[in-house]
Amino acid sequence: MALTLVTGGTRGIGAAVAARLAAEGHDLVLGYHRDAASAAATVAAVEAHGVRCVAVPGDLTTDAGIAALFAAAAELGELTGVVNNAGATYRFAPLADTPADEVRRTIDVNLTAPILVARAAVTALGRGGVVVNITSGAATLGSPGEYVHYAAAKAGLDLVTRGLGLEVAERGIRVVAVAPGLIATDLHATTGDPERVERMAPQIPLGRAGQPEEVAEAVAWLMSEQASYVTATTLRVAGGR
Ligand code: NDP
Repeated sequence: MALTLVTGGTRGIGAAVAARLAAEGHDLVLGYHRDAASAAATVAAVEAHGVRCVAVPGDLTTDAGIAALFAAAAELGELTGVVNNAGATYRFAPLADTPADEVRRTIDVNLTAPILVARAAVTALGRGGVVVNITSGAATLGSPGEYVHYAAAKAGLDLVTRGLGLEVAERGIRVVAVAPGLIATDLHATTGDPERVERMAPQIPLGRAGQPEEVAEAVAWLMSEQASYVTATTLRVAGGR
């Protein structure tokens, strides 16, 4: 029986991953920060698949937030997978116009927190299991004029995927990453640019933004036995960008 923990699992890409894994029979622990209404809606959608699901609020930039998630998972049973998905961009601006405390907060949410989640994951998994880190196409594009520091955090998480994947391979744990490109979620509007997806879509080689479900498909494959020989690498799901 699969038991998977998805951080940021109640909205956007994380919610699509939750629905996709629920359809395959995974029990789920879904982390979120503050949006309890989205959490309740996603839990209901997941439970409709006949699996167990709990949503756990908490800030992943705190030790308590991470501990609460893994404690909830331990109550449900033996953890088999973790999707390290929660992330945030707080503003679109050149680095010189981004306040220092916001740079720190961005690194904290998008790099330090996922490293500590991955650390807790490989401890909880013991022998076997899968960790999927959600990074970003930004990690290789650099995101000039938008969020260079976020891109750097995501590049760091790709390297964590490589290093940790090699570190735990002998325990049968696979660590992989999915790097989404431009995906139609609320992230762009909440960062202050609701038109971004529509404006940028024509620049994507496939001519459109991706849907959260298209990222979820890649995550589900990486978590499955079909990907049993894939580890310590990043799969780009970015329409060619
Ligand atoms: P959303 O903004 O739609 O959802 C983000 C989720 O992360 C929410 O569930 C949110 O909780 C949670 N979260 C944010 N900050 C924290 C925190 N401090 N502690 C705990 N949970 C937190 O984002 P997306 O679905 O678009 O993005 C998901 C991942 O994909 C992120 O890592 C993002 O960087 C990455 N990505 C997204 C792309 C895109 O174009 N959308 C492109 C490339 C990568 P709450 O609901 O309570 O706010």
